[in-house]
Amino acid sequence: MPVAPPPLSTRRSEILARLGQGQIFDLAVVGGGATGLGIALDAAQRGLRVVLVESHDFAKGTSSRSTKLVHGGVRYLAQGNVSLVREALHERRNLLHSAPHLAQALDFVVPAYRWWEKPFYGLGLKAYDQLAGAAGLGKTEWLTRAQALDLVPAAQALGLRGAVRYWDGQFDDARLAIAMARTAAQQGALLVNYCRAERLLYEGTSVAGLVCVDTRTGQPYRLQSRCVVNATGVWVDALRQIDAQHDGPVAYKPLVSPSQGVHLVVDASFLGGNTALMVPKTSDGRILFAVPWLGKVILGTTDTPRQDLPREPRALKQEVDFILREAGHYLRRAPARADVRSMWTGLRPLVSHQAAQDTKTLSREHTVAVSRSGLVTVTGGKWTTYRVMAQDVLLACQQAHLLDPLPACQTQDVRMVGAQTDPTTAVLEGWSLRDPAGMHSYGDEQAAVVAMPGAQRWISPGLSEAMVRFAVRCEYALTVEDVLARRSRLLFLDAREAARAAPEVAELMRQEHGQDPKEGEFAQLSAQFLDIP
Ligand SMILES: Cc1cc2nc3c(=O)[nH]c(=O)nc-3n(C[C@H](O)[C@H](O)[C@H](O)COP(=O)(O)OP(=O)(O)OC[C@H]3O[C@@H](n4cnc5c(N)ncnc54)[C@H](O)[C@@H]3O)c2cc1C
Repeated sequence: MPVAPPPLSTRRSEILARLGQGQIFDLAVVGGGATGLGIALDAAQRGLRVVLVESHDFAKGTSSRSTKLVHGGVRYLAQGNVSLVREALHERRNLLHSAPHLAQALDFVVPAYRWWEKPFYGLGLKAYDQLAGAAGLGKTEWLTRAQALDLVPAAQALGLRGAVRYWDGQFDDARLAIAMARTAAQQGALLVNYCRAERLLYEGTSVAGLVCVDTRTGQPYRLQSRCVVNATGVWVDALRQIDAQHDGPVAYKPLVSPSQGVHLVVDASFLGGNTALMVPKTSDGRILFAVPWLGKVILGTTDTPRQDLPREPRALKQEVDFILREAGHYLRRAPARADVRSMWTGLRPLVSHQAAQDTKTLSREHTVAVSRSGLVTVTGGKWTTYRVMAQDVLLACQQAHLLDPLPACQTQDVRMVGAQTDPTTAVLEGWSLRDPAGMHSYGDEQAAVVAMPGAQRWISPGLSEAMVRFAVRCEYALTVEDVLARRSRLLFLDAREAARAAPEVAELMRQEHGQDPKEGEFAQLSAQFLDIP
C-alpha cells in the first residue's frame, strides 16, 4: 500500500485558536465551495498568507450537488463557444491528474433513434476530440445497435439504430472539495468551516478585512486582510450589497441569476452497465443524463430558472416528472417515484445578462468583478474550470494593486491529498468511480484510515467506524451531515440508508469531539432527500 504524508489534524479548537491570533492575512476568501477552495489553494501555493471562511460545511452549497462530470461542455460546442470548450477540456485533464482517486474518465453513449442522429452527433463529438487534442480521454466512435446495447444493456432497444460513444470525466465533487481544503491547509492556509462572514472591515474607503462568526458558538472574529475575495457562489450578491452600502450612492445591480438543477438517484440496474447515457435533445430540447456513480445511477437534466435563493432548494414536481418521463423513453425499464433512492437540487450561479430569458442561453463563463472599495467577487463558471477561475481572481487582485506581483501559478501540477505519492502506484489498479463507495476514495491515505479504531466495523456498506473517526480528526467533519453527505456520499446515494446509519455516526462523533453533531437536523435533511414531489 503506498505511504502518504501523515494527514494534518483538523481539530476545531486549534483552528479557532489560529483564527483568533490577530494575524494579518494577504488574502481572505469568503466561501468554501469549488471556487473559494481553488483560490485558497492557488494563493497558498504561491506563498500568500490565506484564510478561508465557510458559513456551513465545505461544499455544502452547489459544489456537492453537481452532476459530478468533469467536462468540456459538449453543449457549449453546439453554441459555437470554442475557446470556452477548449479551456475546459484542458482543465478536465488537469483535474483528473490532480486527484486520480476521486476523478476518472467516463465513456458516454449517445443513442440514435433517428437516421440523422448518428452522423450529426458523431461529427460534433469528433470536433470535441479535436479541441481536446493531447488532453483527450478517448476517441469518439460510431457504434452499431448491438455495440450500443453491449455498453448500455438497459437502454431502450426499440427503434435504436446505433449510437455514438465519446469520453468525458466524472468525479466525487464533495470529496474533491475536502481534498482541496486539506491540500491548501498543507500549504499553510487556514480554512474554517461553520464560520460566516457577516460584514466587511474598511480602512478609509478600502476593504481591509472582515468580521466572521463561529456559527456553532456565536463567537465573532475580526480578520485583517489586504485583500478580500467574495466566492460565495449564488449568494455573492449578499456581500456585494453590504459593500455597495459603503461605496455610496452607486446603482447596485445583482450579478447572479440563479437556476436550479435536479438529480434523481436510482439503482445501477436501470442502466445495466458502466457507461453513461447522454441524450442531447429530449422532447423539450433539454439534455438528459444517466450517469453511473458509486454503485448507483444519477439521472439529471439542465436547469430551471428561479428567483429566490433558498439554502436547501427543493425540486419542483414538474422537474421530477420530466426526468422520470424522459428517462422512461430511453431506458428499457421506466423508473418510477418509488425507485428513487435519493434526490438533490443544486443552484447554479449563472452570471446574469438581464435581457436573456432562457438560462440555456446564459453564459457559463465566470466573472470577476472588483468594486471601488476593492472587494473582489467571483462567480459563474463550473467545477471543471475552478483552477482557471482561481488564476483569474489572483490576476485581478494584482491588477487592482490589492496584492503585490505574485510568482506564477503552480496548480497545474498540484496533487491533492490522497494522490501525493507516486501516481503510478498510488492509484488503485482496477478501481472505478462506478463501483460502490469504499476505501478507494482515500487514495494513498488508506493506511491512515485503516490505522483508526474500527477499520473492520462497517456501519453501512462502504462506511466504516474508522472512516467516521478519520472524517472528524482529519477532514473537518463537525456534524452527522458532514459525514453522511460529504465525507461519505451515503445521503446522496441512498437517503433511507443514511438515516438508518445516522444514530451510530452521531454516537461516534460525540466520542470523538464531545460536541452536538446535530443528529436532529440530519434527520430533517435526509427526509428532504427522499421527499419526492
Ligand atoms: C445542478 C448542477 C449541476 C452541475 N454539474 C456540474 C458538473 O457536472 N460539472 C461541472 O464542472 N460543474 C457543474 N456544475 C457547476 C458547479 O457545480 C458550480 O459552478 C460550482 O460548484 C460553484 O462553486 P462555488 O464555490 O462558486 O459555489 P458554492 O459551492 O455554492 O460555494 C459557495 C459557498 O459560499 C458559502 N457562503 C455563502 N455566504 C457565505 C458567507 N457570508 N460567509 C461564508 N460562506 C458563505 C456557501 O455556504 C457555499 O458553501 C453544476 C451546477 C449545478 C447547479
